[in-house]
Amino acid sequence: MQKHNFNSGPSVLPQEVLTQSAEAILNFNNLGLSILEIGHRTSWFVDVIEEAKLLVKEFMQLGEDHEVLFLQGGATTQFMQVPLNLLGDTETAAYCDNGIWGSKAIKEAKLFGNVNVVASSKDKKHSYIPKEFTVPTDAKYLHYTTNNTVEGTEWHTIPDTTVPLVADMSSDIFSRPMDFNRFGLIYAGAQKNMGAAGVTLVVVKKSLLGTINRKISPILDYQSHIEANSLLNTPPVFAIYVAMLTLRWIKKEGGLAEMEKRAKVRANLFYNTLDSLPLFTPIVAKEDRSLMNATFFLKDEALETAFLDECKQNGMVGIKGHRSVGGLRVSMYNAMPLSSVEALCSLMQYFAISHG
Ligand SMILES: *Cc1c(COP(=O)(O)O)cnc(C)c1O
Repeated sequence: MQKHNFNSGPSVLPQEVLTQSAEAILNFNNLGLSILEIGHRTSWFVDVIEEAKLLVKEFMQLGEDHEVLFLQGGATTQFMQVPLNLLGDTETAAYCDNGIWGSKAIKEAKLFGNVNVVASSKDKKHSYIPKEFTVPTDAKYLHYTTNNTVEGTEWHTIPDTTVPLVADMSSDIFSRPMDFNRFGLIYAGAQKNMGAAGVTLVVVKKSLLGTINRKISPILDYQSHIEANSLLNTPPVFAIYVAMLTLRWIKKEGGLAEMEKRAKVRANLFYNTLDSLPLFTPIVAKEDRSLMNATFFLKDEALETAFLDECKQNGMVGIKGHRSVGGLRVSMYNAMPLSSVEALCSLMQYFAISHG
């Protein structure tokens, strides 16, 4: 039986993307070869990466100055690669400390230059998004995490600043239309909203590059990846193919506006159910709730195991919270069918009646 997949990442993918990926492993484009067997410099693969790039540019409506790259090492590598490329030894970058991932990015940036934490939600265990803060106008850039996967908060507006914006969009990329041209650099691991693990999307404004003196190894230098068209060395061919299929699926379903519409329907249903049942306690501030990852506790912690057992028996996986937050977490990414959220909400109502 098909599971209801609430995993936080790697996570649910569209069924047709899985079918097409499986077919391509056996016989890619009727070539009599597997996607795993073709060279990355063949026209077959160049067509794949070019299509993926075009779809990203189309969704983001990017201007000429933005380049689209497909890199390796996950979003975690970007915590290092961003300051390595953009932040000089004596320069200062502004960072928002709003969760576990942002904190890791801050730690890495300190290896390369000065870090000014301009907004933090640490005082309340990262359960809200800071609203009032100022970014010094001479900061090299402002880094923030658009969606805090672990804590369950999401920025519903873009921070108001004149310095270049750098965003980790790993867990809400392509879940809503945004003014992407306002960003100097965007990165996202593919395994939450846009494909399989192994590839990281990086969108970078060319005018931000080449502004520091540091020597950078080509494999970590955005400029050399741009010049090589993301083919500096062997890229993760299969992961890029799955990402391309997922981007195609997003377009076919109606693009980012449709993804946002679906995310709102799913999240409204889930949070309304959560708020209506006193047995469950939401964790984050209402106005900052993530449409992708919902975190909550059971009022009586002792019931947690019983609830998770009930989920398991009903084919619902991935609901246990991250070890740093505890409690429960429900991830509802782009490919999450509404029917899975409906099934979970019914289960919560049933559980509340039988344990209330
Ligand atoms: C999952 C996640 C990461 C880490 O991604 P890796 O690909 O494992 O390096 C970083 N940032 C955010 C917001 C995430 O959700």
